[in-house]
Amino acid sequence: MEPLLGKTLVELQEVALAAGLQKFAGKQLAEWLYVRRVRTIDDMTNISLKGREALKAAYTVGRHAPVREAVSTDGTRKYLFEAGGQFVETVYIPEDDRATLCVSTQAGCKMGCRFCMTGTLGFHGHLHASEILNQIFETDALALADGREPLSNIVYMGEGEPMDNMDEVLRSLEIMTAAYGCAWSPKRITVSTVGVPAMKRFLDESECHLAVSMHNPFGAERAQIMPAEKIMPIADVIALLKQYDWTHQRRVSFEYICWAGKNDSVRHAKEIIRLLKGLNSRINLIRFHEGVEKVARTNKEERHFPGSNEKQMEFLRDYLTDHGVTTTIRRSRGEDILAACGMLVNSLTV
Ligand code: SF4
Repeated sequence: MEPLLGKTLVELQEVALAAGLQKFAGKQLAEWLYVRRVRTIDDMTNISLKGREALKAAYTVGRHAPVREAVSTDGTRKYLFEAGGQFVETVYIPEDDRATLCVSTQAGCKMGCRFCMTGTLGFHGHLHASEILNQIFETDALALADGREPLSNIVYMGEGEPMDNMDEVLRSLEIMTAAYGCAWSPKRITVSTVGVPAMKRFLDESECHLAVSMHNPFGAERAQIMPAEKIMPIADVIALLKQYDWTHQRRVSFEYICWAGKNDSVRHAKEIIRLLKGLNSRINLIRFHEGVEKVARTNKEERHFPGSNEKQMEFLRDYLTDHGVTTTIRRSRGEDILAACGMLVNSLTV
């Protein structure tokens, strides 16, 4: 049966009319789904009994509890969800009085970034907006039930390339930010991309923040680790971003995993500075995880990517900052449960 979760207000109004209800019942459905977040149609008590029966004949709410959970020593939690016959992972990251959720938008990924464990899964399907929202609602409910911090931020950085599933990602963002939906500020949500032509649609149709995986400013070097470079070079990605206004509330950041001798030199820093000149943005330097290295080494292709040491990362941060590029080193979370960046391989299914 089709889920009601993931439907926009206009679609819920159509559902209401088809079920023999008044059009305004669409708004009531939205409130039950997105504000009160009920789990069954029977819980929608201001919808007539007859109306609820008509809805139940064709729809379910579409909520599914996670099938497994792992808890890191640092408080990070990883959840395994079933979605469309596949499994995906979601990561809850608490920090002081905030909690960020990293959601998946696809089962596996097509992009094939050579350093990423998720990329080794291959692609197994797009997630429907209901399955994206379900990750958010279920983990938020679990946090509340346990007395943990409710979600304050969401990053679309789990399994998959969000811009490769644009319709469903935009639909989920509309529901999260619309007045009829969850009414979140778009400034609490960041969507990531390796940089694909479809990102223009995201830039035009959403106000959420953007995070671009750069990892190397030189196209030829980047193409060796990120096949997406051949479809849309990082220079073109940045040229496109320069056409938009980033001086107000909306932010663009660049993710940059640091590898010893591969992308952490002054030469790379100078090229980053040159590329980003005139673009109000920031760089997040990310430490490469030993877990990913291990998988990379056991892979048939003998991929070996030793991460940069702390000293070199600090040098890079200071050099970039001194030259006007706001740069931070991002703390890694949840490594012990394979929940950190690039480590989502549905290990909870094993
Ligand atoms: S880094 Fe992101 S885009 Fe690249 S393979 Fe992994 S999940 Fe896909």
